[in-house]
Amino acid sequence: MNANQVKEIKELLSKPKNVVIVTHWSPDGDAMGSSLGLYNYLSQKKHKVTVITPNDYPSFLYWLPGNKNVINFSTKAKEAKVAVAKAHIIFCLDFNSLKRIDALGDEVGKSKAKKCIIDHHLQPEDFADFMLHDIKACSTCELIHDFIELMGDKKLINKNISNCLYTGIMTDTGSFRFPSTTPKTHRIIAELIDAGAENSEIHNRIYDDNTEDKLRLLGYCLAEKLTVLKEYGTAFFTLQEDELKRFNYKKGDTEGVVNYALSIAGIRFAAFFVERDGIIKTSFRSKGDFNVNLFSRKHFSGGGHANAAGGMSEISLDETIIKFVSLLAGYKKELHPATSPALKKKGITKAAKKKV
Ligand code: 5GP
Ligand code: MN
Repeated sequence: MNANQVKEIKELLSKPKNVVIVTHWSPDGDAMGSSLGLYNYLSQKKHKVTVITPNDYPSFLYWLPGNKNVINFSTKAKEAKVAVAKAHIIFCLDFNSLKRIDALGDEVGKSKAKKCIIDHHLQPEDFADFMLHDIKACSTCELIHDFIELMGDKKLINKNISNCLYTGIMTDTGSFRFPSTTPKTHRIIAELIDAGAENSEIHNRIYDDNTEDKLRLLGYCLAEKLTVLKEYGTAFFTLQEDELKRFNYKKGDTEGVVNYALSIAGIRFAAFFVERDGIIKTSFRSKGDFNVNLFSRKHFSGGGHANAAGGMSEISLDETIIKFVSLLAGYKKELHPATSPALKKKGITKAAKKKV
């Protein structure tokens, strides 16, 4: 965001406005933390602020301050459409392609309101008037902190805003351990704790809120549903819809499972495939320079970051796995060049070869 843009948006926000904040499909900690952090900031400035999510999100995020005012487009489209139609400015947080907000994207796309993207994902689309975009930022919450600072309002960062921003920084950095975590991240975290963020309590609310079903599903994934292809430096999980049912699946129950595959020594590429609502949702994670954003964009209609991305597949779960395994051969150099005994044992090599 250049100095002129900062000036322009400051001017725009100098009088009470109707503000809409939207975030991506299946919101995570950073999506909700950034949306509600900005909500709590702009509400203090006397704007009429409405946060809209395309669909629901995990219940371990419901405690975030301001959550009770969030409108879920998938259940309250009428209310959401009214807010978008009345908006003077729409903030798009933690995403940068209108596809990422599904049907809500049509409403935002046709709105005459000024649009501001605040985001850290790769390859942003050009649909906004203002953009605070930095792929080096550890989270959108870090950028919301920067935005409030650019507006000259750091003194307005109170306990509610701090709790929201702390949550998104914590969840998007894997509790401050991913390479995206910088000295700046820690400095912001220190400031947020100074301003009232309940750091230890936030960890409890997010990570110690498991149901028995969720833990048993994780155990089942680890014991029964993990495939390790050492020769490709790759490990992945698959889950079918009936398995989700068996464990009374609730939104968020499989979040983070993919990281267990990445935690295996020698594994550089991890994937998670889950059958949900008639499609296969994919999650990709990597260590080092294997770029899962490019992989997902090219093969699974998705995107994200270099080391964490998502996507989808409209063929069956079995076909998706055959496709995935076939693709690995083309990434031998980045992954591992040898053929895989593990694949042969599972009969995947043959099927994969046939498809190629
Ligand atoms: P997750 O695997 O946790 O769903 O997502 C990992 C990262 O990829 C997140 O930053 C998320 O916003 C992004 N992402 C997930 N699914 C998609 C998708 O279908 N398209 C794009 N462009 N990004 C995605
Ligand atoms: Mn994020």
